[in-house]
Amino acid sequence: MALTGLEIFKLLPKTNCGDCGVPTCLAFAMKLAQKKAELSECPHASEQAKEILGAASEPPMRLLKAGVGADAFETGGETEMFRHEKTFYHQTAIAVKIDDNQPADSIAAQVKEADEYIIERVGEKLHIDAFRLSNISKDSGKFLSALDVIMQNSSRAVIIDCADIETVKAALSKLNGRRPIIRPGDGDVMEFAKLASEQGASLIIDAGSFQELAEKTEKTAASGFRDMILNLHCDGAGEKLRGNTIMRRAALRKGFKPFGYPAIWFINDEDESELIADAVVGICKYCGIIVLPKFNKEMLLTLYTLRQNIYTDPQKPIQVDPRLAAIGDPKSDSPIFVTTNFSLTYFIISGEIENAGISAWLVIPDCEGMSVLTAWAAGKFSGDKIGKFVKEIGLENKVNKREIIIPGYVAVISGDLEEALPGWRVIVGPQEASDLAPFIKNYLNN
Ligand code: SF4
Repeated sequence: MALTGLEIFKLLPKTNCGDCGVPTCLAFAMKLAQKKAELSECPHASEQAKEILGAASEPPMRLLKAGVGADAFETGGETEMFRHEKTFYHQTAIAVKIDDNQPADSIAAQVKEADEYIIERVGEKLHIDAFRLSNISKDSGKFLSALDVIMQNSSRAVIIDCADIETVKAALSKLNGRRPIIRPGDGDVMEFAKLASEQGASLIIDAGSFQELAEKTEKTAASGFRDMILNLHCDGAGEKLRGNTIMRRAALRKGFKPFGYPAIWFINDEDESELIADAVVGICKYCGIIVLPKFNKEMLLTLYTLRQNIYTDPQKPIQVDPRLAAIGDPKSDSPIFVTTNFSLTYFIISGEIENAGISAWLVIPDCEGMSVLTAWAAGKFSGDKIGKFVKEIGLENKVNKREIIIPGYVAVISGDLEEALPGWRVIVGPQEASDLAPFIKNYLNN
């Protein structure tokens, strides 16, 4: 039976030392109860706590990290079957395959092109997460040289796809702490697990059936190594969908530990439309990582958009940071607009100002990511709050102008805002962003 947060709390040291990454033992107990943390994160847990809580307190799906620094990504750690039940936490990582049997300049060109393809969408930078280096050549020297080329041209995570343990050892020493993922294929899983454990790497477990996969992960976990990624061999999107769904349900709903790891899919389809269908299924249905056989801008643009939509928390509006934004190159007498920090609103308004061909200041107070009318109705976009924010950001020291343009939908706050900002004149702008260009033209001519 699952223990409550308070029951778990009674078993913790209650010193509030913070070594587990949260400030108090009670907060940590709550995280354990929600299966968002593991008892091993508390270095001071007693043997009694370990015995009682043990595996029961672990999240149903292991959270893994790959890569380092700004290019690191996390995969797994999911708790829901469907996003509408709560949310999905870690978006499907996208990797691109590189074969080691190609000339170095060709590998460099492919890596650079894929690495540098970054698009910005509603304030988020979208890019690939990893390269899979495949030992097609079966030649250790070629594999290691190809790895050098990848590392010279990108700092993204690497999946080392090679069954020769000596070559993998040499590759790991080059990667030196960059948390790679190893795919040993038909190599000895236990030997590779030992190596991965020593080197802080994750390990892909390949299997042709559920039973084989469960046996392999159980045996590996029994050795103490648990940073595994599941690769159930499937023939096409339908089988993959079925396989991933069964494994996820077993892990999340039945607490079946052998499947409590993220899944990966190496997509091999030559046919473009089947390739895209596979990738879409992988993102929609439970792959922690998908590996594409090649780089393709158009395909990635589609996949990024899909991925972002699925992995956006429906409970949290997408927001931009509250701040004074400079649109173009505003001067002290440039127009001053105000809007909320709901990402979509911000991008629409800033885009319309840019399209009008002017530079301006955009005041963006914290409205918890709500749109203009919702924020106003919730009391987050009142004259008082905007006035306070204008003072906090020191706007009066940056501009000579004492006029601020508010969205037409909240004309009602103009009196309060003038009261909050003595000496300022509040101008009511248009209700719709699409009317900003004519409004600006009119405003600047008066
Ligand atoms: S590390 Fe352990 S003792 Fe310290 S605050 Fe966390 S739960 Fe409490």
